[in-house]
Amino acid sequence: MTTLDDALAGLPDYDPNHMTVELARAIIARTARAVSAIERVAVRDALGRVLGRDVISPLNVPAFENAAMDGYAFAGSALAAGGDVRLRVAGRSLAGRPFDGVAAAGECVRIMTGALMPAGCDTVIPQEQVRRADGPEFVTFPASAVTPGRHVRHIGEDLAAGHPALHAGKRLRPAALGLLASLGIAEVPVRRRIRVAFFSTGDELRSVGEPLAPGNLYDSNRYTLYGMLQRLGVEVLDLGVVADDPQAIEDTLRMACRDADAVITSGGVSVGEADFTREMMTRLGNVVFWKMAMRPGRPFAFGELECDGHRALLFGLPGNPAAVMASFYHLVRDGLFALMGAEPQAVPRLPVPTTTAIAKRPGRTEFLRAILAADGQGRWQVTVADAQSAGILRTMSEANCFVTLDTARADVAAGELVDVIVFDGLV
Ligand code: AMP
Ligand code: MG
Repeated sequence: MTTLDDALAGLPDYDPNHMTVELARAIIARTARAVSAIERVAVRDALGRVLGRDVISPLNVPAFENAAMDGYAFAGSALAAGGDVRLRVAGRSLAGRPFDGVAAAGECVRIMTGALMPAGCDTVIPQEQVRRADGPEFVTFPASAVTPGRHVRHIGEDLAAGHPALHAGKRLRPAALGLLASLGIAEVPVRRRIRVAFFSTGDELRSVGEPLAPGNLYDSNRYTLYGMLQRLGVEVLDLGVVADDPQAIEDTLRMACRDADAVITSGGVSVGEADFTREMMTRLGNVVFWKMAMRPGRPFAFGELECDGHRALLFGLPGNPAAVMASFYHLVRDGLFALMGAEPQAVPRLPVPTTTAIAKRPGRTEFLRAILAADGQGRWQVTVADAQSAGILRTMSEANCFVTLDTARADVAAGELVDVIVFDGLV
């Protein structure tokens, strides 16, 4: 049984000529098998990589009891009598410079946030809540101002030694690098980087630097794909522009399948006369579906290639530049994360009112390029771009989000809530 057969077993019947986005994503996620090799890299080099194994904390965090507020540390039993509590200040405990004595009954220690709790103390009264009526030697506060044990951070309360600090499948972001450093960890096990080959097809395409003859245009898909793949942190293999020639396409697919874990093509997967890509894909592998109930991005072939004992996932993207980007974000991205061994990376969908009406036919998912911005009162709203044709890259470049209208959705009135998927988050 091939992995594809496994992936498709038990799925509902589907129409390969009219795939819903949901089902296509499910099939892609089930087909993609994580690469297995794991390597150890320095923490800084692990940025964007996927953890291969759980990282177990070698330390308790915090490693010692410390103050959560600036104030005075004392024994909570002093509160038992009620009324006013008056304590003598026996010394100071600063971050990195602890108090080395013991606070006796009737005493407290001036303490700063993060400083070691002195022996004999289990409670901190914040400095704003004390009076120093008897001079700097004494503090007074009502017993009702604090309960025993308050404003103290306990050993291991953030993370206990021996417990997982990060789980396998986690894609490492800046906070994870910091967390690893906070545990004194210098190297982590990560899955090997996946290799993604891509090429454009079309006799009309020219590469940047070449002159344009009548009817020619510059290949932009290899640039948007390059950008999106770089952001995912994969190794890219740019195989250039391939003519609409069955032999050339076959040769390139074979080369790509031998060298890469996934192959992305653009163009040639619709039903035009020169659309050989789909034909070749079917010859060299198994194409599971080729047309989406989605806009933009209706032509979209997905399957698996097999050449000389090598296997690669295959994504046959449409030729139109905006459709390439929409297909990549909404279909390819999930599959690549699965290959990388990453846990599913859900994309937040946020409901926001639309400033204009949007015409929508039920029966397909639409991803409209749009601009999310705050109005004069600071309320967020979204405006779909003026031109939504699949060939127009300008509005894709001007937009900062997709408005996502699911299959069942019909016409949308101005002011209605629509789901927004933002292109970028924090760095
Ligand atoms: P196709 O899917 O090959 O029929 O291409 C659909 C449309 O996208 C045609 O107008 C192509 O010229 C255009 N197109 C295809 N590939 C690219 C590319 N790499 N860069 C820019 N436009 C492209
Ligand atoms: Mg073409």
